[in-house]
Amino acid sequence: MSTDHTAAHERLAALPESTRVAVVTGASSGIGEATARELAGQGFHVVVGARRVDRLETLASEIDGTALPLDVTDVASCEAFCAAVPRLHVLVNNAGGAKGSTSVMDADEDQWRWMWETNVLGTLRMVRGLMPALVATGDGLVVTITSVAALEAYDNGSGYTSAKHAQAVLHRTLRGEFLGRPVRFTEIAPGMVETEFSLVRFDGDDDKASAVYRGITPMVARDVAEIVGFAASRPSHVNLDQIVVKPRAQHSAMRAHRD
Ligand code: NAP
Repeated sequence: MSTDHTAAHERLAALPESTRVAVVTGASSGIGEATARELAGQGFHVVVGARRVDRLETLASEIDGTALPLDVTDVASCEAFCAAVPRLHVLVNNAGGAKGSTSVMDADEDQWRWMWETNVLGTLRMVRGLMPALVATGDGLVVTITSVAALEAYDNGSGYTSAKHAQAVLHRTLRGEFLGRPVRFTEIAPGMVETEFSLVRFDGDDDKASAVYRGITPMVARDVAEIVGFAASRPSHVNLDQIVVKPRAQHSAMRAHRD
């Protein structure tokens, strides 16, 4: 473990027994950042992970949380992060996203690899690393941010829809495999949320990114974060299995009303 990881471990281990701890992956922007703020507002000590550590440090200082570098595509990074978290009540698998928008016939394998590594294997690594701590608290919760892309297939989106379907199936399988143990599983499948998502998808192309939300009022990150907060604040015998949330003007992945 690095000095940062050792210091984080010591800090987390010294928290009062009554302080609940949450981990939010991909907390340097968008839904992850808003979720970290929401859970901190509920009194959680939030451990935030992502690759852009400067942003995490600013966030952690604002919410009195702990920032740690995390690249969910890197096994060693995931292991070091998880080893620094001695006890845990809530894991939010949020790190993820899309790259590109092409037909199956024009699929770019590097983009597919990015999406599968980040959304699917990233979730797998974090769940495996942190599940022992979640179960040991006697009241764990895993929230996974999938997407309407985990429920539908749409043209020119197969790299993302296949990755989100796989991530969702991984998450839903855990619900069965951990039945009888003290851990809950909530999948949140959002439609359009205006974050850095489309900028990342279209490699920083502002015009393409803003066209996604043209003529529609999309959700904002906080809309989803509040749902995570709602799930985390239910009594421990209540499991919200799956929540699908879209802007009013969005009917499905492929159909929206635009003014
Ligand atoms: P965003 O603003 O682009 O945030 C994505 C976050 O994931 C960033 O904090 C990014 O941090 C992190 N991330 C990406 N690759 C990572 C890696 N290898 N290791 C660790 N963290 C990584 O987009 P968002 O909309 O908030 O997306 C959050 C989640 O919601 C994603 O899983 C996305 O698929 C899902 N979602 C989004 C929408 C939408 O319309 N926005 C709809 C449905 C579902 P770094 O770059 O600093 O590492």
